[in-house]
Amino acid sequence: MLYREYGQTGEKISLLGFGGMRFKNVDDHDECIRMMIAAAEKGINYFDTAPGYFEGRSETVFGKAFAQMRKRNLPYFCATKTFESTESGIRKEIEAQLKRLDIPCIDFYHIWCITSADVWQKRKNDGILDTFKKLKEEGLVKHICVSSHLIKNQINELLMEGVFEGVLFGYSAYNFQTRQEAFDAIRAKKIGAVVMNPLGGGIIPQHPDLFKFLCREGESVTAAALRILWDHPEITSTLVGFDTIEHLNEALAAMDGYRPRAQAELEEIKSKSAVSLEGICTGCSYCDNCPQGVPIPRYMDAYNHKLLQKNSQDPIGDRLKWHWSLSRSGAAKCTACGQCESACTQHIDIIKRLKEIAG
Ligand code: SF4
Ligand code: SF4
Repeated sequence: MLYREYGQTGEKISLLGFGGMRFKNVDDHDECIRMMIAAAEKGINYFDTAPGYFEGRSETVFGKAFAQMRKRNLPYFCATKTFESTESGIRKEIEAQLKRLDIPCIDFYHIWCITSADVWQKRKNDGILDTFKKLKEEGLVKHICVSSHLIKNQINELLMEGVFEGVLFGYSAYNFQTRQEAFDAIRAKKIGAVVMNPLGGGIIPQHPDLFKFLCREGESVTAAALRILWDHPEITSTLVGFDTIEHLNEALAAMDGYRPRAQAELEEIKSKSAVSLEGICTGCSYCDNCPQGVPIPRYMDAYNHKLLQKNSQDPIGDRLKWHWSLSRSGAAKCTACGQCESACTQHIDIIKRLKEIAG
């Protein structure tokens, strides 16, 4: 296992992290714990969960696994999050989390899911930063972090606060273009940079043909998608949501055979991503200036899931609800002015897709 320092904190975390959002059966505690212990035995020490994963049951499993890790002297860091923003809400939440997680303090506590400047402003107005600082002073939280879906330079507002020791953000072969500017801003700050969805929420391994441009000879697309992220020295960890032990072993095998690329080779492969994803919104955001305020890249990202995600009943609805906190009805604000379509780098029929999404 390789380890990297989480920003300026001095904590060394594993380059492969364990995400607790995809357990095949979260109520099968023995199996979930077996998977987490196997991960810890292979050197994974960064375990990320959230109160919303399986309505708190992921945190409960984590708590039981941490107790086992303590008995076996296996080191671990716990990362979790909160959607709450008021002091009373956060205090109530963290009290329940510490109980479920069976630990006295959360190592990396995240302000969860900042999807827009408005969301951030509202939480700030509720006093979230002061509350997080107090929790740190009281020893209930070690490091203050944020999870962000902001694209382009929107993330600068968060980073300017100067309190965050790390950011959890989406970045993968599936969305290099849209997230590059945000990643550049994060790395310039030299803070922790943990990548969520390194496999595009399963889209990459499910579509090896589409992503074969990532692969070196003999490499699986899963290994290639992880390794290309590891090639960025500023990425501290990549969180994979493991559902089975086979899935875990596959990611661990990618680490075993890992050989970093030279920077020039890395950039050359990344430059192919827009070409290879023809017909799919790459999230470049050139269209993102709708006079009606439709957040077009987010709706098109959800539509990608319909095109690519074959094993979900409502891929668009799920993506809008769980990733972007948007409703289908927001797409109906489009007046078909055509401005976005003339700006689209991928020539996507945005108006038609929005109409379909709105229903
Ligand atoms: S076509 Fe619709 S989504 Fe595109 S810019 Fe015009 S109103 Fe906005
Ligand atoms: S719809 Fe087109 S312009 Fe807009 S983000 Fe997607 S690819 Fe880029």
